[in-house]
This record gives sequence, structure tokens and C-alpha cells, in this order.
Amino acid sequence: MPTADWGAVLARLGSSRGAGLEVSEGVPLAGRTTFKIGGPARVVARCRSREAVLACLATCGEAGVPWLVLGLGGNVLVPDAGLDAVVLVLEGELAGLERRGPRFLVGGGLPLAKLVRAAVDASLAGVECLGGIPATVGGALAGNAGAYGQEILDVLDWAEVVDGEGQVRRMERWEIEGGYRWSVLGTGRVVTTAEFVLVPERPEVLAERVRLARERRRAAIPPEPSAGSIFRNPPGDHAGRLLELVGCKGLRRGGAMVSQQHANVIVNLGGASAADVRELIAEMARRVRERFDVVLELEVKVLEPDGSVTARPPHDLA
Ligand SMILES: Cc1cc2nc3c(=O)[nH]c(=O)nc-3n(C[C@H](O)[C@H](O)[C@H](O)COP(=O)(O)OP(=O)(O)OC[C@H]3O[C@@H](n4cnc5c(N)ncnc54)[C@H](O)[C@@H]3O)c2cc1C
Repeated sequence: MPTADWGAVLARLGSSRGAGLEVSEGVPLAGRTTFKIGGPARVVARCRSREAVLACLATCGEAGVPWLVLGLGGNVLVPDAGLDAVVLVLEGELAGLERRGPRFLVGGGLPLAKLVRAAVDASLAGVECLGGIPATVGGALAGNAGAYGQEILDVLDWAEVVDGEGQVRRMERWEIEGGYRWSVLGTGRVVTTAEFVLVPERPEVLAERVRLARERRRAAIPPEPSAGSIFRNPPGDHAGRLLELVGCKGLRRGGAMVSQQHANVIVNLGGASAADVRELIAEMARRVRERFDVVLELEVKVLEPDGSVTARPPHDLA
């Protein structure tokens, strides 16, 4: 790819301020991820409207520069060198929430916890077990986030997306392919708005489900900075079980360690680098492959400096 003319990109993006687009250069990203790891973004574009997203993607397309959306950074490993890309963050009307009876019309940048709270307060069921997942609605839809029997796609009615060709599209639920921790919304698209349909439920039933989910989460998820599960569960098994059997708990590289609480979670003990985490991931995957002949797949999005999700197999990440 030829070297991008970042000066021209910034000038173009800067001219879209009226559309609710605000750009900053050299923005540290570590604090915008739950791992607290990674270098700066070349450009962060804070988009407060669909038009801002459109303007941003049009500029990136014309200049041939890569882009990606960042939600709460709950499922990403940003490289130490940072991202030579335009990182979109959705705010303002793209992080709003409106209730219409059992329906919620929300922005892709809305923290998922706010949707869950509003639903429980309105005695509506369908998302009450998802409260502890650090996510925006867009990020949750991109990976079909789920916990304790609920998945976000189960309650989606439709999503509005902007794609890389600059088209705005309303996608109905039936058009959206997705499954265990993936959906087509997570590739080449920005989820700007979504509508969910929930079901009335007795407040005491909801309160009990929330309590149980919180309790299970507290027992399972370590409190230190992490990105949640590193690997997807292989069919019919649990990655954590296999990783524990090959002695991964407590394995350390630099400031990164496989949690003593959960063998499928890497925690940042302080000052961990992305290189530390990549080394650990490779070691974990290698051990499971050698002992069980199981090739684990990544759940966390390990990013390359151009913002793409790595294509390297986990055992080869170091
Ligand atoms: C402590 C902890 C516990 C966790 N528990 C769970 C759990 O129980 N269940 C679960 O499923 N996950 C869990 N996770 C993982 C993570 O929270 C989810 O994957 C979540 O959906 C990530 O959302 P995000 O907004 O932070 O997305 P990010 O991490 O910011 O991004 C993830 C991907 O989504 C894309 N994306 C983000 N926003 C949009 C958008 N608007 N449109 C299109 N694509 C977008 C990004 O480009 C990226 O590819 C956990 C993580 C942590 C740290």
C-alpha cells in the first residue's frame, strides 16, 4: 500500500466538523481498552451523527487509509506501535437511547450496561444477563456478545449500518448472519443504530436473574484489566478447561499473566505490552495443540498496526 497522505486526510476530516465529526491526532489508546495496553491511534474520529460516519468512511475510502470502530475496547489487543488508521468512536446521537413500549431504539455507541439498566427498570426481559459485559451496543452486536443463556442478536429487530462503500442500510434481523461470538455486523460495517424488542417480565424474576448473573460473573472473571476470554470455546468443550489441564494458569510473560482464576483470561498485572500478551497466547495455543491436537481460535481481536484483525494463527503470534 502506498504511504498515506495523512495531512490531506486530516484536512478532509477536519472540514466535516459541521456534520458532528471531531478529529484528534496521536491519541493514546491503552486507556480506551479494558486491557490497558497498546500505542496511540494515528487519528481518532469522534462521530456524533450518521453523516459524520459517512464523511469519515468516504474520506478513508478515497485516501485509501484503513479504519476501524472502537467501542469500549473490551475485546481488542492494540499493538504496542499503535494503529496507523482512523479509529472511529461513536458519541452523541450515536450513543442515545429511546424507549417505545417494549422496544429500545439505541445508538451503536451506547454502553450496553445502560441498555440493560433501562430494560430492567422497565421490567422488560431479554438482556438482563448481559449487564456485566464491557461493551457498546455496536461492539456487542459485532461479536454477538452473550452470557448465561442470552445473546444480543436474540433480541435484535434491525440494525442500521454504514458500510465501507458509504452506503447506509437498514438490515433486518433475518438478514444478519451470526452465531457464537460472531456476526456479519463486525466486518466492514459500522453499526450506527439498532432496535431491540424485549418481553415484559415480573420485576422479581428479573432481579433474581441479574443477581445470579452478577454472582457467576464475580466468581468467573478476574478483577484485573483483561479482554475477557482469549479463545473461543471449541465445539463441545471449554477452552478454559483445556488450558488449565496444560498448566497455563499463572504462566507469565513480562507484565501479562494467565489468570489463576480463569485459564482462558490473560490479565495485565501492570505495564504489560501487546508483545507480552502475544507471546502468552502463542504458548497457550501451542500447549493445547500439542497435548490435545485441538487448534484454538481467537475470540479476542488481536489487531495489526493497520487496524486489521490478525490473520496469523494463535500459536504463531509471538
Ligand atoms: C472482564 C470482561 C468480561 C467479558 N465478558 C464477556 C461475556 O460474558 N460475553 C461476551 O460475549 N464477551 C465478554 N467480554 C468481551 C467483550 O466485552 C465483548 O466482546 C464486547 O462485545 C466488546 O464490545 P466493545 O464495544 O468493547 O467492542 P470493542 O472491543 O471496542 O471492539 C470489538 C470489535 O467490534 C467492532 N465494533 C465495535 N463497535 C462497533 C460498531 N459500532 N459497529 C461495528 N463494529 C463495531 C470493533 O471494530 C472490533 O472489531 C468480556 C470482556 C471483559 C474485559
